[in-house]
Amino acid sequence: MTRRGVGVSPGIGHGPAYILAASVPEPPEGATYDGDASQEKQRAMAALDHVAGDLEARGLHAGGQARDILEAQALMARDPGLIVGVKSLIDRDVSAERAVYESFGKYRDLLTKAGGYLGERAADLDDIRDRTIAVLMGLPMPGVPTDAAEPYVLIARDLAPADTALLSKDVVAAFVTEEGGPTSHTAILARALGVPAVVACPGATAIPAGTRLLVDGASGEVRLEPSDDEVGEAVRAAEARLALLSEVTGPGATKDGHAVPLLANVGGPGDVEAALANGAEGVGLYRTEFLFLDRATAPTEQEQEDAYRAVLEAFPGGKVVVRTLDAGADKPLAFLPPSSDEPNPALGERGLRMFRIFPEVMRSQLSALARAHKGLPADLQVMAPMVAAPEEARWFADACRTAGLPSAGVMIEVPAAALRAGDLAPAVDFFSIGTNDLAQYTFAADRQVGALSRLQDAWQPALLDLVALAVGTHGKPCGVCGEAAADPALACVLVGLGVSSLSMGAPALPAVRAVLARHTLDQCRAAAGAARASATPEEARAAAREHLPALAELGL
Ligand code: PEP
Ligand code: MG
Repeated sequence: MTRRGVGVSPGIGHGPAYILAASVPEPPEGATYDGDASQEKQRAMAALDHVAGDLEARGLHAGGQARDILEAQALMARDPGLIVGVKSLIDRDVSAERAVYESFGKYRDLLTKAGGYLGERAADLDDIRDRTIAVLMGLPMPGVPTDAAEPYVLIARDLAPADTALLSKDVVAAFVTEEGGPTSHTAILARALGVPAVVACPGATAIPAGTRLLVDGASGEVRLEPSDDEVGEAVRAAEARLALLSEVTGPGATKDGHAVPLLANVGGPGDVEAALANGAEGVGLYRTEFLFLDRATAPTEQEQEDAYRAVLEAFPGGKVVVRTLDAGADKPLAFLPPSSDEPNPALGERGLRMFRIFPEVMRSQLSALARAHKGLPADLQVMAPMVAAPEEARWFADACRTAGLPSAGVMIEVPAAALRAGDLAPAVDFFSIGTNDLAQYTFAADRQVGALSRLQDAWQPALLDLVALAVGTHGKPCGVCGEAAADPALACVLVGLGVSSLSMGAPALPAVRAVLARHTLDQCRAAAGAARASATPEEARAAAREHLPALAELGL
């Protein structure tokens, strides 16, 4: 049996299905219990003990730093003060579930108030609380296992960036989600990790846990209970294609020598190794908010400086484009909340708009960046997300210059900015087009909603028109760092439209490099013209391919 979704991170992955449980509900306020208090206390203690024992066992299995972390979490579950709190609430007729919820809440508030390192532990407490409540309610354990016996296929309705922060290729063989489009964070993270992924796959969470799956992250096919021969053949074909693509090395350029720097999108120092291994010439998008997703309090300047320097040091001669915190909507940061409840967070206070409310956080980030860069040869460029108007570009560029930063730019991800890039240009040194959000706002189609993934297709001719307008005639370099750059055919079209560099999740670099090297700039221009002359994404794709013959030769 086969299920089908949208392939968003190419490659073949296979393993048993693991279904990510939905979040644990808050036990209702005022919930009481039947029976006597000592039984209810026993139920609560047994659940806490179970959770602590499970964490200890996982720590023992994982070893290293993970063991220390899990053992520290287990200690929290066995904390005598917490146990006293739970028991005394049960004495006051509160159910075990609610007593656990409230006692953890008190500790959480204390930690959050303490701030710094202690504040960060609030997320750990929430995790133990949810695990204990899940045991008491008979629900599946929340969270993603990091110590499974073999790599598994992670299935979920959708994945938040924080769900997946601890995952690596050794742990997860593939991602399959019911929601999410090609530019959702599941897709971005999967590509960054080099893990095959299929999104917008209806009915995926109904697949029984443990079912063996074969996932094709290019075609979007998810095969249930494949034979060993089918798995072997799919893996061999994927390896052969990868070997062919890896034959071209060196800086990105078309066949006739038009240079197109090929850069990596990173979320922190942990992504540098893959970027270097795939021949990235630098970093085109450092998503700094990824460093702080699970933080309850703002990071210190020193922590930021360390995380930025680690990436700058890895590219001594290269360009490193750092994006300031893009908080809000699909990437909420607890320490940068919007100033009011927002009915449409994607249209609310996010990206640079957030810095209008928290200017000191912007100043602290810019100053950490300037300090991190001191004495290093990397070409540091800093840009702001979600810029819509010239005064925003000026405000940000002025703040960068005040902080002593050498180069300030803005992302183009709002249609207004693409339409009038020429008005933003005088204030900035460069542009970078975020095609993920630009598609979302052009088509009024939430990038997290799987059912709308067709409207998120970066081959939409309307999006290509906006890219052409953004590149414009203003004379400032204009790269692309959205997911569109990772599609080898579309990368050629973007080059044909005049973009100056391409930045993508590292595993996509070899295919883009190989395809670019096999076509001339004129072929790229012809492909771009044909795509823009089309009326639908399918037609645009087909029309562009007519001018890019090497795609078929490379099996792409
Ligand atoms: C984009 O919107 O295209 C982009 C690169 O930024 P993000 O995906 O992080 O929103
Ligand atoms: Mg964006």
